[in-house]
Amino acid sequence: MGKPTGFKEFPRKAVPYREPMQRLGDYGEIFTLPPEEHLKTQGARCMDCGVPFCQSDSGCPIDNLIPEWNDLVYRGRWREALDRLHKTNNFPEFTGRACPAPCEGACVLGITDPAVTIKNIENAIIDRGFAEGWVKPEPPPVRTGKKVAVIGSGPSGLAAAAQLNKAGHLVTVYERADRIGGLLMYGIPNMKLDKGVVERRVQLLRDEGINFLTKQDVGNKDSANYVDPQKLMKEYDAVLLSTGATKPNDLPISGRGLHGIHFAMEFLTANTKSLLDSKLADEQYISAKDKNVIVIGGGDTGTDCIGTSMRHGCKSMVNFELLPQPPKDRAPDNPWPQWPRIFRTDYGHQEVAAKFGADPRAYCVMSKEFVGDENGRVAGIRTVQVEWHKVEGQWKLKELPNSDKFYPADLVLLAMGFKGPEQYAAEILGIEYDPRSNYKAAHGKFATTVPKVFAAGDCRRGQSLVVWAINEGRGAARAIDEFLMGNSQLPAPGLSLGIAK
Ligand SMILES: Cc1cc2nc3c(=O)[nH]c(=O)nc-3n(C[C@H](O)[C@H](O)[C@H](O)COP(=O)(O)OP(=O)(O)OC[C@H]3O[C@@H](n4cnc5c(N)ncnc54)[C@H](O)[C@@H]3O)c2cc1C
Ligand code: SF4
Repeated sequence: MGKPTGFKEFPRKAVPYREPMQRLGDYGEIFTLPPEEHLKTQGARCMDCGVPFCQSDSGCPIDNLIPEWNDLVYRGRWREALDRLHKTNNFPEFTGRACPAPCEGACVLGITDPAVTIKNIENAIIDRGFAEGWVKPEPPPVRTGKKVAVIGSGPSGLAAAAQLNKAGHLVTVYERADRIGGLLMYGIPNMKLDKGVVERRVQLLRDEGINFLTKQDVGNKDSANYVDPQKLMKEYDAVLLSTGATKPNDLPISGRGLHGIHFAMEFLTANTKSLLDSKLADEQYISAKDKNVIVIGGGDTGTDCIGTSMRHGCKSMVNFELLPQPPKDRAPDNPWPQWPRIFRTDYGHQEVAAKFGADPRAYCVMSKEFVGDENGRVAGIRTVQVEWHKVEGQWKLKELPNSDKFYPADLVLLAMGFKGPEQYAAEILGIEYDPRSNYKAAHGKFATTVPKVFAAGDCRRGQSLVVWAINEGRGAARAIDEFLMGNSQLPAPGLSLGIAK
């Protein structure tokens, strides 16, 4: 611990985002660049706890060595901090920007004071590493001659590919989209994770010897880019499925077929593709310009739909939440070091408040019917208010009488989560599913019910987070390495401490 009294002397100061009204004018990242002194004092707040909950237990899913790099940053030893960070995290530039930071929820300082700004420090270390030219391709010194196919190029597939390549195996990544990155590329919008940042890391992986193939739709017989999964089974010594949980939840109420109602991912993917292809000049995206927009569902996806619609120049914005507004502070049944289920204002909400004067969220709202105009376009949503009650330990909702309301809308975006992976590739391979329709494979083993086929990331654990996808990709790489070689020197995140994550 660099400064034993740091946590008493310095208050928490998170790195601020750019001003909402300024950042609404572009798709650049929302973050500002903190001065070095700021990071040093924030790093000095770390107490170097005997049991660092931030890096284990309910904290960081990849066991980032947080107190060690906090101390190194305080001492100005950035190069060493970078090396410590890369030991556990292949992609700190993704988590440093997009992770909701469960580590901060588990920070011991958080029991009495605001937590250490761990995520900001992580991001600063890796950004400094790139700026100084310290991050260089490191191809493996020897090759094993074993070949692995990774299907899907999101953070789980990329982490697995990086680790397997490090172990000397020849890795080919098959991706059905035209760009590599999964939801890092075509989910999380540019303002939260610049696509140049994703491409920079993919290029490093390419330079280390990983083979990336785009427009390869493994198992989809209806696609012009069809790749036969059985052919991959013959050509490779192991196959990893890291295809994500891409099947969206729908809202099958009356009027669902009206024009102007879209899944969030149709909206977000098309926007990023058009932005990258032509800076939106090709107009190959769903525009929210001058429209009354309603986003149904919260979370990261809902926020990203809000932020993107605001940049298009929507006329109004409302965000429906079925659940009640979370409390300002932790509830008694949500103690430290659990992830705090508290009210948060994300970047999209800030932007709506700055432009339209109020937070867009409406709580306990249930959509009953999409109402259309004479041209078959959505014109609004009829809703009721609901109340939540606990009945025999289960939350149940009740519609409130006379609470009908009509919200006008020209564009409705459905951001209600995902119900598991698409199954066409797994179907051909004969993979079994778990009761939630994810690919059946135990965490730690990652082996599916079909020999030499493994599964990792959202397709195995269900819709989750980038940091969990990295955990799974790293873990699956170790399991595959063991399967191929009989043992493995690759680390197993979360398992080294005997914690089943
Ligand atoms: C809009 C949105 C915003 C999010 N924001 C955040 C955030 O801010 N922070 C955070 O931590 N998490 C966020 N998440 C969650 C996070 O992005 C995911 O948990 C994570 O990307 C899962 O990684 P993955 O590798 O398992 O799958 P994915 O990232 O979904 O990647 C799967 C890839 O597999 C490809 N694929 C699928 N089937 C095939 C096939 N048959 N053949 C070839 N390729 C195939 C897909 O095209 C895709 O590229 C967000 C999710 C969404 C939807
Ligand atoms: S990856 Fe996420 S949980 Fe882990 S240290 Fe970084 S911000 Fe915290």
